[in-house]
Amino acid sequence: MKIVQVGDRTEITVHQSFLGSHFMCPKKARDEAERPEGSSPSSESAIGTAMHAACEADMYGLDEDTIQEALVDAYRVEIEHPGFMERMGHDEALSTALACYKAWQRDLKPRVRNPDMLEHKFRLHVDTRGDVDLFIGGMWDLTSDGEVVDWKTASSMYAYRQWQVDRWFVQPTMYTWALAIITDNWGPKRFHYGIVEKSARPTGHWVTTTRNAQDWMFLKEQIWSLVGTWALPPALNDQGWHCSAKWCDSWSVCKGAPRAIEIVGVAAGLVLAGGPD
Ligand code: SF4
Repeated sequence: MKIVQVGDRTEITVHQSFLGSHFMCPKKARDEAERPEGSSPSSESAIGTAMHAACEADMYGLDEDTIQEALVDAYRVEIEHPGFMERMGHDEALSTALACYKAWQRDLKPRVRNPDMLEHKFRLHVDTRGDVDLFIGGMWDLTSDGEVVDWKTASSMYAYRQWQVDRWFVQPTMYTWALAIITDNWGPKRFHYGIVEKSARPTGHWVTTTRNAQDWMFLKEQIWSLVGTWALPPALNDQGWHCSAKWCDSWSVCKGAPRAIEIVGVAAGLVLAGGPD
């Protein structure tokens, strides 16, 4: 979430990655937003980013050598990030990314006809309340059929079931909302995840979900409720897989800190005057 003062008005821009983190743990999301370098990539996310770059280079119609260069370049950018979390050797990670791209090419690409916009950045005004203007932002791939696609890697068969993607995932809600604004067509919109399973022999499959105006309006209220609490210390949520040294950049200064309760209490502005006898 970015907050910028423009004259006497405040502009707030929210991205889906921030919201995804916020719904896991508000403190995790706040720390990522305030850290200049953002969240730290890991070997797993670098594989996903590298595969993503190769898929897009492929959809641009580039030759095989250039596609593989795009894959390696994207991986290198990730590992140079100051907080990079290396969990496997670079050779293994790169060969996994390449195998995932090949699976994408074989299993997923045939269903993507004529991509219209690749890596297209958007920032759209969605609402105004008082002197605050609210924007949503992101980067997407659009097909010529007017549908949004995104590519993901998963360590085993995609962990989420269809009903979970339908009910919980924020990215499809935000991106189909953006599509409704851009096209001024407020009917239901579809979002497609092309998912490559990372295994000895990667395979790709599709998960498609639909969002409508009710979903977009609910997301708008969720964002405003978050804006309303921004001046307060963020809530801490350790109830999930995300709260671990492996997945949370703030672990060492939060739940994993030697004096976690004291450190978190100070961060939250709490002063403990004394405890029970
Ligand atoms: S360590 Fe847990 S509670 Fe603390 S910021 Fe990370 S996810 Fe949230």
